[in-house]
Parts: sequence; C-alpha cells; structure tokens
Amino acid sequence: MNTDHNQSVITRIPPSPTGHLHFGTARTALFNYLFAKQQGGSMLFRSEDTDRARSQSVYEEEIIDGLHWLGIDWDNDQIIRQSERAAIYRKKLEHLLELDKAYESIEPSKQDPSRSVTVVRLRNPGTIITFKDLIRGEIRFDTTELGDFVIARAIDDALYHLTVVVDDAEMGVTHILRGEDHISNTPRQILLQEALGYTRPVYAHLPLILAPDRSKMSKRHGPVSIAEYREQGYLPETLVNYLALLGWNPGTDQEIFTLPELVEQFTITQIQKSGAIFDITKLKWLNKQHLAHRTQTEQVEYIVTGFTSAAPDIDQEKLEQIRRLAPTVLERAHTTSEIVEACRAGEYDFILNPKPLIANTLAWKNDPIPDAAKPRLAQLLSLLTDADFSSPDTIKAAIWPYVEATGKGEVLWPMRMALTGQERSPDPFTVAYALGQPITLERLQVAYDTLGG
Ligand code: GLU
Repeated sequence: MNTDHNQSVITRIPPSPTGHLHFGTARTALFNYLFAKQQGGSMLFRSEDTDRARSQSVYEEEIIDGLHWLGIDWDNDQIIRQSERAAIYRKKLEHLLELDKAYESIEPSKQDPSRSVTVVRLRNPGTIITFKDLIRGEIRFDTTELGDFVIARAIDDALYHLTVVVDDAEMGVTHILRGEDHISNTPRQILLQEALGYTRPVYAHLPLILAPDRSKMSKRHGPVSIAEYREQGYLPETLVNYLALLGWNPGTDQEIFTLPELVEQFTITQIQKSGAIFDITKLKWLNKQHLAHRTQTEQVEYIVTGFTSAAPDIDQEKLEQIRRLAPTVLERAHTTSEIVEACRAGEYDFILNPKPLIANTLAWKNDPIPDAAKPRLAQLLSLLTDADFSSPDTIKAAIWPYVEATGKGEVLWPMRMALTGQERSPDPFTVAYALGQPITLERLQVAYDTLGG
C-alpha cells in the first residue's frame, strides 16, 4: 500500500567517495530515489568526503556518473560536499561545548600515542533510545554502553556522526533509508540530534546483500561495482530492475520493471527484513529480458560492441556478417562478456578466423565413401547460385526439397563443415545468410575442390 503523498519528503544519498560505486550504494540510492519520487519529494546527493586521506574526486565522479547512467537523479543535480561545510560543523561543535553537552578532552593520539590531541566527546546522558524503523519495527538501545563517544578529532575536524546529523537536519532530510550495517550508528546519531535540538527523521534500514552462501557479499563472490557490471554489458535498466528486487518485492508475480514502474509500485512496507541473496543467474536472465525490449538497431549495436571488444581489429565485412547473425548471437548470450567468451572459445571462428578446410571432415557419418559429399556440394552450389539470400528462411526454402529427398545429415553436414569448418555452429541457413551469397558460394566451391574424384 502506498503511503499518502507528502510534498515535504526529502531523502538523501550520502556516499563516501573512497571507492568505486558499489552495488550496495547504488541500491540505497535507488530506494531513496524511488521513495522520494513516489512521494512527490526530492532526494539530495551529499558527498561525504571528510576523510581527507581516503576521499578522491575520481571516485566521486565515478559514483555520480554511475548513478546518472542508472537513471537516478537528484535535486537540481547539485553536489553537496561535506569538505566545504567545515565551518558549519565547527559552529555546531562550539554550540554543544557552550551548552556543556560536549567537552574537549586531551588524550594521546590514536595514530601516534607520543602526541596528544584535543578531541571532542559528547556528554552521553546514557538514556534508552527507542526508534521505530519502517522495516524492522521498534528498536531499543541502551546507550550507556556507548560512553562519551568522540564526535570530532579536533574542533575543526568533525567525525561522521556529527556531520551526518547536522547535515540531515540542516538540509531538512525527513527519511533516512540506508543499509542495515548503519543500525548501530542510529542511537549515537539520535543522541546527537537530541543534544542539538533537531527533529528526528524517519529511519528505514535496508537488508544486507548476501552472497549465495549467505555470507556478506564481497569481491571474492564476483564483481561488486556497478562499473564492472556495466563493462560486462549489463544494461542500466537491468541493473535498476535487479537492484530494486534486492530486498524488495512487489507482492505480485511481476519481475520485469522499468524505472517509472518502480516509482509507481515501490513501497517501503514490501521491503524484507532478512538478507537479500545476490543471484547472478537472475541478473543475467533479466539482462536478456531487457535486451529483448531494446530496438533492433540497439540490439545489433550491442552485439557489435561484444565482437569489437573480442576482436578490436575486426573489419567492416566481418561486422556486416555479425550484424546479420545478431538474432542468433542474442539468443545465446546474456551479456557482451558472454559474447567475448564465445568468441574466445572459437564459436564464431567461421566469421572471425576461418580455418582452412580439412577434406575428411566433410563426410557425413553414414556416408560409405569419403567423397560422397562431392555431388551434394555440387547440387548445393547450383541451388544456391540462384537462391534468394534475403533471410535464413529463403535460403532454407531454396534447398529444402533437395535436403528432404537426399537426407538431412547427408546434405547439411557437408554444408555446415564447408561453411564453418566447425562441428558446432548455428544452423547452416543462418550461417549462409550471415556470410552472404558470395562467401557462401566460395566456401562451398573450395570444399568441392578439396574433395578428390
Ligand atoms: N557516508 C556514509 C556511508 O557511505 C553514509 C551513511 C548514512 O547513510 O548515514 O556509509
């Protein structure tokens, strides 16, 4: 059930630009985007780049570019950077010190214990914090165990809990949808909100993304960055669809969604509590479904991308052959990286690297004499010289009566071997269509000439 539309909903996506755009971050961004859009609200993008040692602008660019590629946008395309807000955090820290809700403490530095630093600690009232999580229900936390935790490394070097609380409040964030790994941060952040007199936002902690063995998904289970999936030929609409299903379901059998459909159907109440298992088979399947929705021209160009990454020097004539073979290639592959693998395995060598023909491969297993294929090749040559090559079907029609009268294996085996030199290939009509009439006739002639008699 959809929550009532609320003009004032503001969500946020606050990535730390310390690494590639992980699909966990992309999913969080997507859920925040969907919820805000659906509620007629907005989402803001905040680069949490206060960790000066680890933050890099290339990562920030990659995250922004990746989210845009997925179709996720935000408030005015504006980029808010925490590194540009140091003065605001300092003011808030000073305010907390004035109120005696925080204090400065001179302590040995963690990095270099021979040096002392003046950190700022929150005076923790040690209350029991209860908050209602939209996904997980009521959560209670005894904050005494947190002690007077550090909120700034120095008065002008605020830490995550402080910056996030100040920003969310100052920017009017109403809903915080973020990964379950942040649940334990929430009580600290609520304590800070209370100390600063801010309104508490609504929380929803999204389930973890798990590998099939139910351990936390990590690099050893496969690619974890959006860029790597993009590189492998996953379409943005596939990834958006897939990310939405990582922890959310529509409550119906529908599995294929476009972004606007997700905006319409997304509901926080349909987000599950338990971990979302990453299923690569499903992701591949979805890519095929979304590819099928692309135009024919886009599908052909998609395939060409696969072949040009496998064979960067491929010439125009071969590319034309590949274009004609597109529907068959598409049937067999889920992604461009599977096309590359198939090329490397030699599946398309009859186009990419035709091998010299070996005469004794031309005989069909039932043929008593090695040269039995010769008259069949002669007949194929004569039928195909006058055939209509406008589709695999017209080629098939030209030779089918002869094939039926003579035997399928007897005719089609030497035809396939003459055209491809491969025991396994697409059907010979499709191959002939892809190769085109001149090359088809040339290869049949070479095969004919190879045989003795
Ligand atoms: N910068 C934090 C992160 O990337 C944001 C956490 C939050 O949503 O509060 O994990």
